[in-house]
Amino acid sequence: METRVCCLHSKGDIQIETHAVAAPGQGEVLVAIGAAGICGSDLHYFQNGGFGTIRVREPMILGHEAAGTVVAIGEGVDNVEPGTRVAVNPSNPCNDCVYCNQGMPIHCLNMRFSGSAMRFPHEQGLFREKIVVEAARCVPVKDGPSLSEAACSEPLAVCLHARSVAGELTGKRVLVTGAGPIGALCAGLAKDGGASEVVVTDLQDFPLEVAAKMGATRTINIVNAADAMEPYMADKGYFDVVFECSAAAPALKTALMALRPRGTLVQVGIAGDQPIPINLVVSKEISIKGTQRFHSEFAEAVEMISQGRIDVRPIVTQTCKMTDAESAFVLAADRTKAVKVHLTFAGEGT
Ligand code: ZN
Repeated sequence: METRVCCLHSKGDIQIETHAVAAPGQGEVLVAIGAAGICGSDLHYFQNGGFGTIRVREPMILGHEAAGTVVAIGEGVDNVEPGTRVAVNPSNPCNDCVYCNQGMPIHCLNMRFSGSAMRFPHEQGLFREKIVVEAARCVPVKDGPSLSEAACSEPLAVCLHARSVAGELTGKRVLVTGAGPIGALCAGLAKDGGASEVVVTDLQDFPLEVAAKMGATRTINIVNAADAMEPYMADKGYFDVVFECSAAAPALKTALMALRPRGTLVQVGIAGDQPIPINLVVSKEISIKGTQRFHSEFAEAVEMISQGRIDVRPIVTQTCKMTDAESAFVLAADRTKAVKVHLTFAGEGT
């Protein structure tokens, strides 16, 4: 059996290739991928050949946000059957290292995360028509949501983990800086979590419109309304919690100025080293918490989407065929007209 894949060979060079697919073995299933989202990290691989010290050193199939339909199952599989629609969990901790044994699989020393160049050989990703994957990584999706919606489980899981790091949000005033897919989903989850206000900032109108659809109570374009944040900085600040999703130094500074004393800043975005106005952190006794990826939140995200508790459709702004992957990546990089671009795969694009 064969499958077409979207393989990155080097910076800016994605090739549609045909690879062999084996039959599913013990505990494995064959999944026909229906939809998959282009993430910021996929874009970094495409535009820059990697990020920081992580470089693409061999051809790598991109993608880690995907959903599809089970086509065949191997021996010993009982959680899914042929025809089951599933979201594929890209996270694959070893369950055996010091951190896995301490209940922190997110920090697994041997993490094999789909479509990641952190390890060598690289962990091949999910932008492919067919894949053999461990059944345990396939979470069934109920009838109702499309595979495109199900493929949003991964970024939603990232945001669910960020929300758990933030703590209780009921009645809280929340600021989200950066309205990309993660910022927009954080806004939706803040609303879902009972926040009284959810203000979202960005430098572009288009993603702010998406954030409004996701539940932001106010959106602010920092370029057009530079002074709109000032009232939030009076009397030592206004917000209880910030989800910093932009990884931009000015946004971080603004966030710290707009946080109330003893507020919490959850740093979700990443972009290398950047200065932190430490005086603000100390004088206002602000807690800065990092968050990355997810573990149990993946199944939780699938469940939320399955039950219609959150409508993720606004973040998917464009859908392209996998054969048009290269132009889809160029589109995904344009923040003036795209938030999340999805790829669809032959015959399963529902
Ligand atoms: Zn481990």
